[in-house]
Amino acid sequence: MTIWNPWHGCRRISPGCLRCYMYRRDAAVGRDSTVIEKTASFDLPVRKKRDGSYKLAEEGTVYVCMTSDFWIEEADGWRPEAWRMIRERSDLRFTIVTKRIDRFFVGLPADWGEGYPNVTVCTTCENQATADFRLPVFLSLPIRRRTVIHEPMLEEIKIAPYLAGGGIAGVICGGESGPDARLCSYDWILSTMRQCAAAGVAFTFKQTGARFEKDGKIYAVPRSLQIPQARKAGIDLAGRG
Ligand code: SF4
Repeated sequence: MTIWNPWHGCRRISPGCLRCYMYRRDAAVGRDSTVIEKTASFDLPVRKKRDGSYKLAEEGTVYVCMTSDFWIEEADGWRPEAWRMIRERSDLRFTIVTKRIDRFFVGLPADWGEGYPNVTVCTTCENQATADFRLPVFLSLPIRRRTVIHEPMLEEIKIAPYLAGGGIAGVICGGESGPDARLCSYDWILSTMRQCAAAGVAFTFKQTGARFEKDGKIYAVPRSLQIPQARKAGIDLAGRG
């Protein structure tokens, strides 16, 4: 797995952003997270070695904009070039996670068509309100592979009507990390798992978060155990598609 951060910095847009890890990390080094700027890695996918081959080898998935949002307004002028690089590297698979799916068409390349085959777009929906706003928009867009992430999952989220049409390939759930993490309940995770099972959609329980409720008990889960504990639950689903 590779992370490509062509730009850095962001503005909070919805409740899931409250304890954004990027803000936390920046604060630790005295950096202002609201300053949105291109990074030194901007051209990472197309950098070449002396022999003319790409530095970034064809392996795994490239996760895009993990310290910003691909569709943030300040990046409107840079996004066309980012798309050009994604198109050039058709041998790589790119996953773009966003909370701004309603800005999808801003800077979209003219040859996008029904979507580049090497691009997965993942919309974050942390609660029912964001799911009900973002998912109808998401499903209306020309994207070849769509996934959804509930992270940090802040309540039970009913998305069965959005899963029914087969337009969503997978759903990932996870809690919130960090010292002031908000609670995540196993019941909410199971609810999403069951909705995915009914629709034949892949499901992943990624991590518990730092405050996790199960069977009426609240656990403080250390960072190192948040992923292993989720795996231990053994509730992931492959999906039909
Ligand atoms: S959209 Fe993502 S990167 Fe931006 S503030 Fe929210 S959580 Fe942080």
